[in-house]
Amino acid sequence: MANAYFKVRKPINEPIYSYEPGSLHKKKLKEKLKEMRMNKIEIPLIIGGKEIRTGNTNVCIVPHNKELVLAEYHMAGKKEIEMAIKAALEVKKEWESMPWEHRLSIFLRAAELLSTSWRYIINAATMLGQSKTVFQAEIDSACELIDFFRFNSYYLTEIYEEQPNSTKDAWNRVEYRPLEGFIFAVTPFNFTSIAGNLPTSPAMAGNVVLWKPSSTAVFSNYFVMKLLQEAGLPDGVINFIPGFGDEIGRYVFDSEWLAGVHFTGSTKVFQTMWKTIGDNLTKYRMYPRIVGETGGKDFIFVHNSADIETLIAAMIRGAFEYQGQKCSAASRAYIPESIWLELKKRLLEEISTIKMGDVEDFTNFMSAVIDQKAFNSIKSYIEYAKNSNEAEIICGGNCDDSVGYFIEPTVIVTTNPKFKTMKEEIFGPVLTIYIYKDDELDKTLELCNDTSPYGLTGAIFAQDRKAIVKMQKILYYAAGNFYINDKPTGAVVGQQPFGGARASGTNDKAGSKLNMLRWLNPISIKENFNPPKDYRYVFMKEK
Ligand code: NAD
Repeated sequence: MANAYFKVRKPINEPIYSYEPGSLHKKKLKEKLKEMRMNKIEIPLIIGGKEIRTGNTNVCIVPHNKELVLAEYHMAGKKEIEMAIKAALEVKKEWESMPWEHRLSIFLRAAELLSTSWRYIINAATMLGQSKTVFQAEIDSACELIDFFRFNSYYLTEIYEEQPNSTKDAWNRVEYRPLEGFIFAVTPFNFTSIAGNLPTSPAMAGNVVLWKPSSTAVFSNYFVMKLLQEAGLPDGVINFIPGFGDEIGRYVFDSEWLAGVHFTGSTKVFQTMWKTIGDNLTKYRMYPRIVGETGGKDFIFVHNSADIETLIAAMIRGAFEYQGQKCSAASRAYIPESIWLELKKRLLEEISTIKMGDVEDFTNFMSAVIDQKAFNSIKSYIEYAKNSNEAEIICGGNCDDSVGYFIEPTVIVTTNPKFKTMKEEIFGPVLTIYIYKDDELDKTLELCNDTSPYGLTGAIFAQDRKAIVKMQKILYYAAGNFYINDKPTGAVVGQQPFGGARASGTNDKAGSKLNMLRWLNPISIKENFNPPKDYRYVFMKEK
């Protein structure tokens, strides 16, 4: 331990590159895209710092050009899970006792590398492997991941600073140990930043981790792992184990050393995990911390005083950016009858200008959805609406998987506020609108609050302050991230801590102090400078 209190610089959010025509950033990124597209790689597991090849492989493809294979990756089985648990536990003591300033320096260096030389690598890998446009990749895999590294390091030192009161004869101290075991980080396909955050936030706090990336994001996630290694992450602290989720889960949840789960993904998978942990509870050495951010059915609720231009931009960005594959994407909207005709006309005009295609053509606003399974599922919702007499598709609705998994930005108008596409998470570029009578505002707000089991994000649009107050009040528990006159997507680390309750998760707010607290196991220490020498109390004397 050093004889000083060190301070981590108070972070500011990473500036977003604009990749304007003729810029060096754009040129370098395009070169990296070409290089990655043309050179197929092999991705091993990384356990205890060693590359492991199991021969049981799968491929990483480009969703907007599905015949193009970027990589072949090896998958973990029972033997590799056992190896990973062993490797993690072997380095645990050394990692947790490393002075925290050295631990955090690794992640601050990772942030700096990602902000400079690694930016093009991780952005290009995300664009190709997950079909993100340059802007969507930049705000995710570069800026948000850099912010996670820097802000979480800072929050951890704020926690370490928090100490209890002492008296003149006793010094009370709290030390923030990591959890006793390993953390299982299970990450989704849709954000490279979340994939990087879930294993690293517990690791910063001194924990050791098994990281199971999503099968459709292994490509970019592998480069995140390589970045961490280059930044100096010691072998075994984070172990990279792609494979089938349910198979890996089965072996991991069987270990007595499971100390926590850091999950982001669908509600169904999270509930299955929680049940398995519950069934195994007596096996574990501690109650595993369960942190999960899951699905959403995010709303835009409009009052008749709303500014229509702002609303249209928010609806399009909120519903269709990254093909609607954000947990926060707007997927249902409540519009008052009095403004609907004007709004409809201009909304359809704007949507008709949206370009969709290959992410290497920077003029595209949208690209493909992630895989065949997602394509089929989204298409089935659109088919359902086409065949219903309670719904009308007013734009889009075409799906084409001949080259890549393309689905047009689609707007459904329904007469039933509890229509299937108003309730269920679709996770694609589909927005369903319900038109309400202006004098039924309160009733419709209640409907919005009750229609879906989720509580992730929501946005209200109004100029009338009294209406804003009322809307916010009725929708108090409907969202964990609530927006007034802004789209419900695009939360920024350090500005809008992200997460929701109800069926949307444990609401532990990724990229915040609240989340970091979950990976700590405090010990209270009392040192007495003047302990009693007699067990008897004064009240025991009669004279
Ligand atoms: P998913 O649930 O299909 O997969 C998430 C991860 O869980 C993957 O790594 C997968 O392989 C793994 N997995 C699947 N079954 C498993 C099992 N039985 N045991 C262990 N691991 C298992 O989700 P996805 O398609 O990757 O991501 C989309 C979902 O994530 C959406 O529902 C979206 O709303 C949600 N999401 C939520 C947030 C948030 O912060 N609330 C953020 C991003 C995504």
